[in-house]
Amino acid sequence: MNANDNPLLDFQGLPRFDRIAPEHVTPAIETLLAESRAIVERVAASTAPADWDGVAAPIAASLDRLDRAWTAVRHMNAVVSTPALRETYNSNLPKVTAFYADLGQDERLYAKYRAIAASAAFATFDHAKRRVVENELRDFRLGGAELPADRKARFKQVQEELAGLAAKFDDNVLDATNAWAHYVMDPAALAGVPADLIAQARADAEAEGKPGYRLTLRAPCYLPVMQYADDRALRALMHRAYSTLASDLGADPAHDNTAIIERILALRAEEAKLLGYANFAEVSLVPKMAATPAEVLAFVRDLAQRARPFAERDYAEVAGFARTELGIADPQAWDLPYASEKLRQRRYAFSDQEVKQYFREDRVLAGLFGLVQTIYGVSIAESEAPAWHPDVRFYEIRDRDGGRVGQFYLDLYAREGKQRGAWMDDAVNRRCEGEHIRNPVAFLTCNFAAPAVVDSQRRPALFTHREVVTLFHEFGHGLHLLLTRVDVPGVSGIEGVEWDAVELPSQIMENWCWEWDVLQSMTAHVDTGVPLPRALFDRMRAAKNFQSGLATLRQIEFALFDMLLHTEYLPGQQSAHPDARSVLAAARREVAVVPRPDYDRFMHAFGHVFAGGYAAGYYSYKWAEVLSADAFSLFEEVGVLSPVAGARFREEVLARGGSRPALESFVAFRGRKPQIDALLRHNGMTTSS
Ligand SMILES: [Zn+2]
Repeated sequence: MNANDNPLLDFQGLPRFDRIAPEHVTPAIETLLAESRAIVERVAASTAPADWDGVAAPIAASLDRLDRAWTAVRHMNAVVSTPALRETYNSNLPKVTAFYADLGQDERLYAKYRAIAASAAFATFDHAKRRVVENELRDFRLGGAELPADRKARFKQVQEELAGLAAKFDDNVLDATNAWAHYVMDPAALAGVPADLIAQARADAEAEGKPGYRLTLRAPCYLPVMQYADDRALRALMHRAYSTLASDLGADPAHDNTAIIERILALRAEEAKLLGYANFAEVSLVPKMAATPAEVLAFVRDLAQRARPFAERDYAEVAGFARTELGIADPQAWDLPYASEKLRQRRYAFSDQEVKQYFREDRVLAGLFGLVQTIYGVSIAESEAPAWHPDVRFYEIRDRDGGRVGQFYLDLYAREGKQRGAWMDDAVNRRCEGEHIRNPVAFLTCNFAAPAVVDSQRRPALFTHREVVTLFHEFGHGLHLLLTRVDVPGVSGIEGVEWDAVELPSQIMENWCWEWDVLQSMTAHVDTGVPLPRALFDRMRAAKNFQSGLATLRQIEFALFDMLLHTEYLPGQQSAHPDARSVLAAARREVAVVPRPDYDRFMHAFGHVFAGGYAAGYYSYKWAEVLSADAFSLFEEVGVLSPVAGARFREEVLARGGSRPALESFVAFRGRKPQIDALLRHNGMTTSS
């Protein structure tokens, strides 16, 4: 089968999303796996002295084709999942995982990389190539290449089972989300809920031929209901459904992730033991900035201590307000977002919904692109490409000289068959192909509310300010990929960047969502076209750190839980904790100030740690926020729209990718090592503020 028959084997240009169908997956992946295995065999069997061109280059080229095809399949399975696509994804996943497991423990290739590292030529390699070889040696060790044959086989089984469990974990969360709906018959029960959501809920019920209003657990519905619905019983019902998704308390036992979680943790512990580490956290930290679990735990606990007084104050305020002003005698978890929004409205005289009317999608995108154009000296223009859904848009990013540097897809709206959350993924990485440079391509995915249809007219989508922040965040990841100048496989864009530094380019972008010069030009009221008034902006700024102590502590609770889970808990063995839930309880006892209901099973949908790449790495958000806040403080010093600071950030951080340690890139940009002061100041956690 060739590229004419199978779009997944067409590598000429962009992925052929208009043609890719489930029946293409197995033949394409089998062809590419066979091709890659043949190249690995040829390289491994070669008797020529090991060098870059004979080893690293051909293997990277063949993996590149496999990665591009598999990424396209994985992406479609995440954003336009169908039973047929999921089936073929899940049936090919073990083959792909087995291939990478074999590759990772191939001692013949490992020996070749050791020979390259020991060769005279190695000293003449540039930074990027040297780093690739060093990373390869590390990854072979972590891939089990030094294990004896019997343990290699077991190690491979562990990796295959883990990959399958991660996919199953995500599937369960998506299925449980899709399976749940609540129909409200009496519109009075929706008192307080924003009109656009009520209209959407009505339209959703109507589309099913049902009366009433259809509520779901997808973010554009769930979050506003929790924030605005006056009906306490409705909030309690939604909260319970959301907090028990894919758990033993969920609606369908078939979606329960409990056993999957325990199995994942047992396998990770076994993997660590096979490699000679005390626990999985030690393995996870080898390629990261942080050196040891103890260092991470100390960081997390220090931040917890600093945030705690602010969080206690936040909680006392919101609970007190709920009691005295809202008549809620015993405020519960399902009352807090509601009471918190009411308190904020009282104190700062605006609501999220009011602000949302100014953030029209077209203006927000124009503002985001304008900002990026100003500080990084690039231009962004809409273009065309085959896509997986009619709502997807496609853009090109060009340098000052007009040369194209990258392209990206934007898929903004929540829908059935799409995994929750927001993320960036690399569709294509920058590479040197003969005389040419191949540009990188990014997938930017969000789950915002689609444009409302009013009187059969599609209104512009409106974003909450928080959604705007999310969009900027993901776009920052995108820029890390798109503005790289590295074309060496493995360290280009976000490849090879330490995981706990990966949130630096994304989180720094969030800061610009709080700048008047940026917001002024990216807002227009949906009805009147008037830009965001200065007075409203000032109130938003004043409220920026409203309840930020609680928000910080919540992130710390997740980070601590994740670290304890991968250091202290040994499933099936003598351990301080009988199960993962008891680890969560311990983390909460240590840092949380808000009581959670007994039914809370947030862990069962915690995809970051059980299905994403954040295992023993969730602390990365806060770790990198030290870097991003401190990096942004340079912009604060010289001007937040300074193209000089922008050029330096682009040159020293974004362009470098994984070609040198993240700390070196940071120091090159900031002129010194990172300090925590800016993070505390940005979060309002300084005693003077
Ligand atoms: Zn991120």
